[in-house]
Amino acid sequence: MYGPLPGDQAGPLKRPAPRRYAAYRPGRLPVGAARGHLRLNRKGLAIGIDIGGTKVAAGVVDAEGRILSEARRSTPGTDPRAVERVILELVEELSRGHRIRSVGIGAAGWMDLAGGTVLFSPHLAWRNEPLRENLERLLRRPVLLTNDADAAAWAEWRFGAGRGEDRLVCITLGTGIGGAMVMDGRLERGRFGVAGEFGHQVIMPGGHRCECGNRGCWEQYASGNALGREARLLARANSPVAQDLLAAAGGHPEDITGAIVTELALAGDRASRELIEEVGEWLGLGLANLAAALDPGLFVIGGGLCSAGDLLVEPARKAFSRNLTGRGFRPAAGIELAALGPNAGLIGAADLSRVSSRVRSQGAR
Ligand SMILES: [Zn+2]
Repeated sequence: MYGPLPGDQAGPLKRPAPRRYAAYRPGRLPVGAARGHLRLNRKGLAIGIDIGGTKVAAGVVDAEGRILSEARRSTPGTDPRAVERVILELVEELSRGHRIRSVGIGAAGWMDLAGGTVLFSPHLAWRNEPLRENLERLLRRPVLLTNDADAAAWAEWRFGAGRGEDRLVCITLGTGIGGAMVMDGRLERGRFGVAGEFGHQVIMPGGHRCECGNRGCWEQYASGNALGREARLLARANSPVAQDLLAAAGGHPEDITGAIVTELALAGDRASRELIEEVGEWLGLGLANLAAALDPGLFVIGGGLCSAGDLLVEPARKAFSRNLTGRGFRPAAGIELAALGPNAGLIGAADLSRVSSRVRSQGAR
């Protein structure tokens, strides 16, 4: 029922005329500059579903990005049919008492540009899975599939920290690094729909081995996993500065996680603060590389590691300014924490499903 996402180049959508700006002024564009295609369907409710490696979170979302009701399940293994059944259950449960027009699904992985097929998903057994078709049959409503990082970026742009900035790059720091771009009011997904894999830019040739097969990827230095790894190394070295870290993990260095380090850092532990500062510096260096390529107005940093707040972002801002190409001779992008927290994915998936159906129907007229 749906065509491509609003961000796609291909497909039957009428492309909007290019917008012209007056002479560039540093700072944010006026709110709504790229939102003409979004003034639609103010009343429609949509369900957003965020499928993670361990849990499936769903919610009814209104046109202002507010969650009206929520439901959760554990991710039922990797069997695609079992995942579809859980989605059906959630939609049936949340539809009681709400008139739902569409359903948006966000999951880690790559969707084809038309948004019908999951090409690959790391946590689930989806390989070339025609998920949208299966789900539209089951749910009897329009369904939209999107990458979870794209969904979160869309939500931050529409309702969160990215409001008013129309050249936006979002970075999600979790076990790895997720990336997504909203440019001039559209998700930028590249020629083949797989743009935004910023976590795998090589930032340290010959460095730590990455799951992707390369060495020295950014996400091996600036993610929750990287933070945990460095803390475990410090604890295993029997360093006296790691005593509190070790104690927090019951004396077992291998049980130290990024979340434990973040908690201790917020409580004032010096070694934990230094570890987060180091991750923040790697973050800033990678952002400077992205600014050289993409020149956004704002980076929004989300994901679990964000709970470290300024302990992470301040060192990132400093490293960013130190490494930015043309520093001193150009306006620099802002770096801000995400505003919507862990619900960004489901809010964005719901909103994309609502907006896409209308863009499609307008295009067809
Ligand atoms: Zn990699």
